[in-house]
Amino acid sequence: MNIIENLNFIKKTINKKVNLIAVSKTKSKEKILEAFNAGQRIFGENKVQELKEKSKILPKEIEWHMIGHLQTNKVKYIAPFISLIHTVDSEKILIEIDKRAKQNNRVINCLLQFNISNEENKYGIDLKEGEKLLEKSLNYKNIQIVGVMGMASLTQNKKQIRKEFKNLKYLFDNFQNKNSNIKILSMGMSGDYKIAIEEGSNMIRIGSAIFGNR
Ligand SMILES: *Cc1c(COP(=O)(O)O)cnc(C)c1O
Repeated sequence: MNIIENLNFIKKTINKKVNLIAVSKTKSKEKILEAFNAGQRIFGENKVQELKEKSKILPKEIEWHMIGHLQTNKVKYIAPFISLIHTVDSEKILIEIDKRAKQNNRVINCLLQFNISNEENKYGIDLKEGEKLLEKSLNYKNIQIVGVMGMASLTQNKKQIRKEFKNLKYLFDNFQNKNSNIKILSMGMSGDYKIAIEEGSNMIRIGSAIFGNR
């Protein structure tokens, strides 16, 4: 696996308006630096502890994204530096993020995570809950909801994946019509990002297609 070749390949195949998140979970500092030195600046992690440790030892220019499920008692560890949290799925986590952002004198940008897959144990909310949370977020000054995120089912069935992405795009359009801060549609991973972009994604989260299998 050649990280630089992989990055260049992906960048060549996507439109410049699509933001590429290099998902570096489980990958070493050296591998992340290789991607960084090739120009990659946005990295995604799914575990607070790992994120915190990597952010300490890697270049300050890196924008870190939290893409994994977040527990309220861990928000404080990432609040000082996180640039986008993709996984807001409850009022409790929303309030905690606002509180910790305030303590750090900053506004933390977040996405609402929707459950678009037909798999049961995936995290995420539905349209109604999303509407409530977006409304609620307007009362809090240190958290800003700037978009939506979702993960398609782990299946080879491309029609199914496309259908799920279409659903998320529909939700995205719906929220964008209500709130002009909504700009990010985070969908698409190594196996399905081409379909995601065809369906309107403007932020893809790519791990194995850059760094190799985990
Ligand atoms: C691991 C992960 C990814 C990247 O997955 P790949 O298939 O390796 O590209 C994207 N999004 C989330 C939420 C993840 O946990």
